[in-house]
Amino acid sequence: MAQGSTSSTVHDVVIIGSGAGGGTVTKVLADMGIRVLLMEAGPMLTMDDFKTLASPLDAWHRGAGDAATLYSSGQGAGPLNTSVVFPPSTIDEPYTVAPGSQFRWSRSRCIGGRTNHYGRIQLRYSDYDFKNKSMKGVGFDWPISYDDLAPYYDKAERFIGVTGRAEGLRSAPDGIFQTPAPFRPHEHLIYRSCEKLGIKATSSRQAVITSALNGRPACIYCGQCGRGCRFGSNYASSYVQIFPAIATGRVTVLANSMARELITDASGKVTAVSYIDKTTGEERQVRCRTVVLSAAGCESARLLLNSKSAKHPHGVGNSGGIVGKYLTDTVGFGMSATVPYLRGMPPFAAEGYGAHLYIPWWMADRHNELDFPLGYHIELGGGGFATPALGFGAQAIAQHQGYGLPMKQAIRDTYGSGTTISLSGRGSTVPNDNSYCEIDPDGTKDKWGIPVLRFHWKWSDYELNEARHMRESFTAILETLGGTVTVPGGRGRGAGPGAAAPGVAGQGAAGAPVAPPGAGAGAAGAPPAAGTAPIAAEPAPTQPPDNRPQLGAGGGIIHEVGCVRMGTHADNSVVNRFCQVHDAPNVFSADGGPFASHGDKNPTHTIIALAWRTAEYLAEEMRKGNV
Ligand SMILES: Cc1cc2nc3c(=O)[nH]c(=O)nc-3n(C[C@H](O)[C@H](O)[C@H](O)COP(=O)(O)OP(=O)(O)OC[C@H]3O[C@@H](n4cnc5c(N)ncnc54)[C@H](O)[C@@H]3O)c2cc1C
Ligand code: SF4
Repeated sequence: MAQGSTSSTVHDVVIIGSGAGGGTVTKVLADMGIRVLLMEAGPMLTMDDFKTLASPLDAWHRGAGDAATLYSSGQGAGPLNTSVVFPPSTIDEPYTVAPGSQFRWSRSRCIGGRTNHYGRIQLRYSDYDFKNKSMKGVGFDWPISYDDLAPYYDKAERFIGVTGRAEGLRSAPDGIFQTPAPFRPHEHLIYRSCEKLGIKATSSRQAVITSALNGRPACIYCGQCGRGCRFGSNYASSYVQIFPAIATGRVTVLANSMARELITDASGKVTAVSYIDKTTGEERQVRCRTVVLSAAGCESARLLLNSKSAKHPHGVGNSGGIVGKYLTDTVGFGMSATVPYLRGMPPFAAEGYGAHLYIPWWMADRHNELDFPLGYHIELGGGGFATPALGFGAQAIAQHQGYGLPMKQAIRDTYGSGTTISLSGRGSTVPNDNSYCEIDPDGTKDKWGIPVLRFHWKWSDYELNEARHMRESFTAILETLGGTVTVPGGRGRGAGPGAAAPGVAGQGAAGAPVAPPGAGAGAAGAPPAAGTAPIAAEPAPTQPPDNRPQLGAGGGIIHEVGCVRMGTHADNSVVNRFCQVHDAPNVFSADGGPFASHGDKNPTHTIIALAWRTAEYLAEEMRKGNV
């Protein structure tokens, strides 16, 4: 049982976590006139923390010393970039991985969570993504359908702004789109190659505005979305939702405050949240009328599992034993090719906001031809001439000895991504009994004595077969446009802006605490925080005997959802169709936790739409006096 001082105020709503889910609930409730307390485990940020347009001179190492060597050898870009990533120290906040499993958990602790640096690929789920069991015969159905969520996708798009082009595709439902940026030369090549193969490519759907919206100016195509946008032209919950919500005067922020446990009364009702003030290490409690869990799916599951009492002996919401179960991540597979056609092209403007083209799943109605039930979409990277990453030049110079025009030409060919085009598959996963998290049975605790999670992970044949199909289709697309495949496989993270740098991912030995991928940075542009675990190189993938591609660790694509599953009853789920905990009706979940299945789409748009719907429902239940 938690100890510590307790606030006298009873807050109407305590929201735990401020990423996509928490930011949305905060903004929606504040706009409806409801006062909220937003509890966030990381620090507050200001617009000055977003290093858009930072020059190489702003790097803290200034091109000198060990850090610069790591950078120029391509081994350590992660800790040295200027992304707004605040990973927790894995010494202070470890997690463990069960023997025989591989899992990586990428976290960011700050106002806005991971939305400050995510790739901003903003995709709606399709009708069949909500009905996998009845439409595709695998996994689970959600108790809601696409039609239930569509009005909330609309609201989210109108408010945050998403680029795109209406295509009428079942696998990629249209939305209310901002005008997309035009394709670049290499994207035209991909578009035509896909056309020849009967595959429909379209404009990317990014949470970026190309026309001014709600006081935010249009994107100026600087290409630095991964650092957040100091102009506010892309979506991050911090500057698009939370800062404006604070301005209403109805939001109290409790930063650097790590929720530890939900406190219940004798009847089992949640009455308070106990938390650690990370600046002093003291434990305190805030009293509440309702609670919204938005700490991200796994962390919210941890909080529920750690909240045990006589009425909730297995944790709040866990009477059916479902909390932590059916954890999923996206299937990731990547392939790159050198494209001679792009060599020696005259310089042209190629700026923008990440990829301007993506390829939705093109076989949604042809699954009987395939040996996997669900689909994937393709993201892309490469294709040169956009502003290169910090540190560009060192490798090119090392690789291209000489001087004069040949040297200049060689460097031009590698400027940005030069003549390389990369495709990254992002595929559906079918939830399985072997992928879940639980409270570490060996008793590992974090710095504050809070029991940590242990992860179990297994890919099934469905995902491995899907990856084999990715390899075949990517080879066809790249070869049809005249490319020569240079990197035949890999996880494929790295195509989008803000993606973790390749080759820096932490990989946990079974049973050992692990480091997060691409992490290690403290404040933007600052040296890694003391106590941050060193970043291990990812082991070389091995080829399975049946020649299907090797998939990386679970969690590696950073789309982990599930663990607080939505369903019809406490026996089969944790929350109901309004993301309200069956066993504790004044507790709601607004993050990736409620996902009952895992479509090929990146999850954040659906997290925002669900959170919006949950917030409106919560407000209505409060008005009626039901909670
Ligand atoms: C490099 C990268 C690229 C990505 N690209 C895309 C993309 O293109 N498209 C897409 O859809 N998704 C993408 N994602 C995933 C996306 O970031 C997540 O889906 C999204 O941020 C999840 O939102 P959330 O609210 O569930 O959690 P988060 O954004 O992780 O926010 C959770 C918040 O809760 C806080 N918190 C956690 N525990 C506690 C606690 N106990 N007490 C108090 N606070 C707590 C955390 O500090 C954090 O601020 C990407 C992620 C990364 C890292
Ligand atoms: S590309 Fe546009 S949205 Fe992205 S950081 Fe630059 S100005 Fe902002």
